[in-house]
This record gives sequence, structure tokens and C-alpha cells, in this order.
Amino acid sequence: MGLKVPSMSSFPKYLEKLKDAFYALPSVTPRSAEKMAVDFVRLPREKRSEILKDISAASTEIKVCRICGNYSNEEVCEICSDSSRDSGVVCVVEEPFDVYAVEDAGFNGKYHILGGRIDPLNKISPSDLRINSLMKRLSSGKIKEIILATNLNRKGIATARYIFNEIKREFPEIAVTQPAHGLSEGTEIVYVNPHTLKEAFEDRKEFG
Ligand SMILES: [Zn+2]
Repeated sequence: MGLKVPSMSSFPKYLEKLKDAFYALPSVTPRSAEKMAVDFVRLPREKRSEILKDISAASTEIKVCRICGNYSNEEVCEICSDSSRDSGVVCVVEEPFDVYAVEDAGFNGKYHILGGRIDPLNKISPSDLRINSLMKRLSSGKIKEIILATNLNRKGIATARYIFNEIKREFPEIAVTQPAHGLSEGTEIVYVNPHTLKEAFEDRKEFG
């Protein structure tokens, strides 16, 4: 016996609440929130309980790495604590999901996650991003190169430019590069295929 799909104008109260919960996620549109709510209640009860347990565990257990700012199971994430990776090269990205894209491209250095991009219209200034903590990491003297891999749209480029100026002012000896080959204007790192991204990282050029 399947559940009847309700008409959207008379969404039952609990579906409405569920829809609102999904819609709290920035990547979910109102219509997909409705679909997700209906999809969820359609699942067998056991599957629903399993999902609830996973959501609850993620909500309480997930940590933010105190070095790079990525999500982590521990205080320091697996990538930061991996001594086989090159600690001299740090790739700066806007969001955690960018890390997964760059990982798929075979990058073997470390990361720094900004947690967004400079966006004056939405009142996001440099102090809202993890730029100070990047400067602190650089002051250790162990980092030789920073790869600025923010998105190639207006906000991402402005953010990279700001960080470039900060680094050059305080640490002129550190090389600042950007992925180059094959990445065009407007590109968002998360949507680049691994092969293209790999080439863009291998052929990186001096920032500017
Ligand atoms: Zn980390």
C-alpha cells in the first residue's frame, strides 16, 4: 500500500515541517524540499530510522579540524595528520566540498578551507573567513607554496586577490600560485572533472 502523494497546496503538517527542514539546506530548492519530504515518508520505517540515526550522529559527532577547517572525525583531520603528504604546499579553497574535488584530482599537499568567499552584499568580510588562521599557519615558516583554488567567478577571484595581497605583504618569500590550464572564467572548482583539475594543478602558474 503506497502513500498517496498530497497536493502541494494541502501539504500535511508533518510533511510541511519536514519540507521546511530540508529547505533549510542552502542547496535545496522549495520544490525539491517537497519532493524530499515525500520521498522520505515513502521509505520503509527501518530505513527512516537508520537515516535519523545517521543525521543525529553526524550532528553531534562531526568536528572541524583546528588546522585546516575541514570537517573531521577528530580534532585534527586525516589529511592534516598524514605525514606522507607534502606539508610545504597548501591549497586554499572556499568550501569543504572543494577539498573532495581537489582530492579526486590527485593533489598530495595540504589544505586550508576559508569557509566562504568575500561578499560585501551579503556582509561577508575577510574577518568572517579563515584568513587569520591561514596567516598563522604561514608564520610557521614550513609552507613554501600556497595554491589559491577559489572559484573563478567574481567573488572567488576577489577573495583570492585579497589573500594574495595579504600573503605578499607579510610573507613575500612564499610562492603564491593558481591552477591554470583549462580552467575558464566562471568555473567553480567543485564542478571541474578530475582530469582537467589534475592538469590545472600540475600546470599551475604564479598568481596574478
Ligand atoms: Zn585538517
